[in-house]
Amino acid sequence: MNANPSVNPGTAPLLKVENLVKQFPIKGGLLSRTVDKVHAVDGVSFELQAGETLGVVGESGCGKSTTGRCILRLIEPTSGEVTFRGQSVTRAGKEELRALARDMQIIFQDPYASLNPRMTVSAIIGEALTIHKLTKTRQEYDARIVQLLETVGLSADHMRRYPHEFSGGQRQRIGIARALAVDPKLIVCDEAVSALDVSIQAQVINLLEDLREQFKLTYIFIAHDLSVVEHISHRVAVMYLGRIVEIAPAQLLYTNPLHPYTEALLSAVPIPDPKVKRKRIMLQGDVPSPIHPPPGCHFHTRCPIAKKGLCDVERPELKQSAPGHWVSCHLRG
Ligand code: SF4
Repeated sequence: MNANPSVNPGTAPLLKVENLVKQFPIKGGLLSRTVDKVHAVDGVSFELQAGETLGVVGESGCGKSTTGRCILRLIEPTSGEVTFRGQSVTRAGKEELRALARDMQIIFQDPYASLNPRMTVSAIIGEALTIHKLTKTRQEYDARIVQLLETVGLSADHMRRYPHEFSGGQRQRIGIARALAVDPKLIVCDEAVSALDVSIQAQVINLLEDLREQFKLTYIFIAHDLSVVEHISHRVAVMYLGRIVEIAPAQLLYTNPLHPYTEALLSAVPIPDPKVKRKRIMLQGDVPSPIHPPPGCHFHTRCPIAKKGLCDVERPELKQSAPGHWVSCHLRG
């Protein structure tokens, strides 16, 4: 796939992802040879401008989290190129990668699992300060921890406590403070609010929006449902079985979805106005296995408008149908 969806093709992007592929080998037999592969990410390309938030949505197993982790090289991509501020991430050596880690951070889904229960909040948030030698004295270190806690809506007396003493929302705030400690430019929010109650989700999303303004941050905001990313995202990418099937400015995607899969996802999003009715599109069957994804358009086994002899044979390219609106479908766009 050569298309590289960008919101502003004339400007140098902060992040460029080109044809990213990740296959996980499946080992088997006595000699533990590779017997098959999971095609987790299958040719993902997009560009991200500084200050932008790209929402990435899709059902579990669609490759969205793997994409986020490959961009940060927490998982090694099989092929493809990731460039951050003109510097190759995919070809970076150990030292370059360590420097890049300051600019590119991640907030994980499960604040219960991602914070070490034996470390104090101060040690958790300050780990990266120590690794990158960002503070010189204990006083400076403590002052920075207090500043970070206050930035995310917590207070100085929280620094000596342990993760189990906090609620889910507070733990996610600790995770955000940890990511902010190194003054990153890009943060991958990997299902960062999915484990939280709806009211707490809204608080954390509002906090992330405020922080984006305050620190000029850029986000990749990964979630499994379109309603979560609607307000925070400038653009939204919809993924299905390892591929981006549609990517567009948020408002355009929500009002004029082109891909049948986006339409189905959107039909499940509740509309606040009770007078407006939206017909629910129920997709038949489950998402096929990423070990043997269907040929042609990966979505053809569940698509209500699939055309035999075309959709099950030819892979649709991601094409631009209107400025900034890209879709991968033989019949739409
Ligand atoms: Fe459906 Fe065919 Fe479009 Fe795929 S290419 S979404 S199967 S119509």
